[in-house]
Amino acid sequence: MAGGVNDSSDASPNAALAPGLYIVATPIGNLNDITLRAIDVLTRCDGVACEDTRVTGKLMRHLGLSKPLWRYNDHAEERDRARLIESMATRAVALVSDAGTPLISDPGYRLVNAARDAGIEIQTIPGPCAAIAAMTLAGLPSDRFLFAGFLPVKEKARADMLAELGEIDATLVFYESAGRLGRTLAAIDAGLPGRRVGVARELTKMHEECRVDTPAALIAHYDAKPPKGEIVLLVEPPHETEASEADVDALLCAALETDKPSQAAAKVARATGADRKALYARAMELRR
Ligand code: SAM
Repeated sequence: MAGGVNDSSDASPNAALAPGLYIVATPIGNLNDITLRAIDVLTRCDGVACEDTRVTGKLMRHLGLSKPLWRYNDHAEERDRARLIESMATRAVALVSDAGTPLISDPGYRLVNAARDAGIEIQTIPGPCAAIAAMTLAGLPSDRFLFAGFLPVKEKARADMLAELGEIDATLVFYESAGRLGRTLAAIDAGLPGRRVGVARELTKMHEECRVDTPAALIAHYDAKPPKGEIVLLVEPPHETEASEADVDALLCAALETDKPSQAAAKVARATGADRKALYARAMELRR
């Protein structure tokens, strides 16, 4: 195994770890998805800060480990966080979340920030992350992607965020719940027309699936077969190819059925990359 500053594997398996904070990624479904280094740190740490002691207790039992488990989230009282930081001066504290990589739509950033301020040694033990796993499975452009966590639940805030992020030349990655999938797909269809969407569901679990299609086709599929489990949504970047005049007119006409010319122009500009002012002028012509 490669050695280095962060390599804990050259110590004997029973040796204590150096005091500090160890950020440990854990499985997102399949319990075999845990790195040798994560097991080593969980074996040799003095205790584990976790979101839910029942969830982490289950993982520890699966690994045959028993350690003190301390409940922690970013809404913890300042004094609880301070106590945890204080203990890192003399003890090795592992930070895990319920699943995947801590801090990624999960607690931890306040703790890491405070540990950094306090001069605590911090190491990261990377591993599973649903957003990255979904990126690898969907086959959408992966040279640039933007992870945006969960979309707002309220309709207007969600539409505004989609409009803002939709202009960025990158695949967009969101976390989503099964119950909200249909509404979110409809919002993508309305706000970012013409984009293909990926639904990566139950990654690394028995019913793992990944579908990449138009939002309309995905809505039809999941209307007939309501989704269960955990979901990552991906939206392809804006198209680079210039739409033909006929395509633009067709998109504008469709948008004008429900939207004002300015809104229709903005929507089609997002979908095609065409100039919004020119589209507005054309929308006014078409409306006449
Ligand atoms: N920190 C985690 C990570 O590294 O992926 C994410 C935690 S976030 C609170 C939980 C969300 O991640 C779920 O609602 C779902 O959107 C996504 N997620 C987690 N596990 C997943 C899985 N196995 N398949 C698909 N999505 C998953």
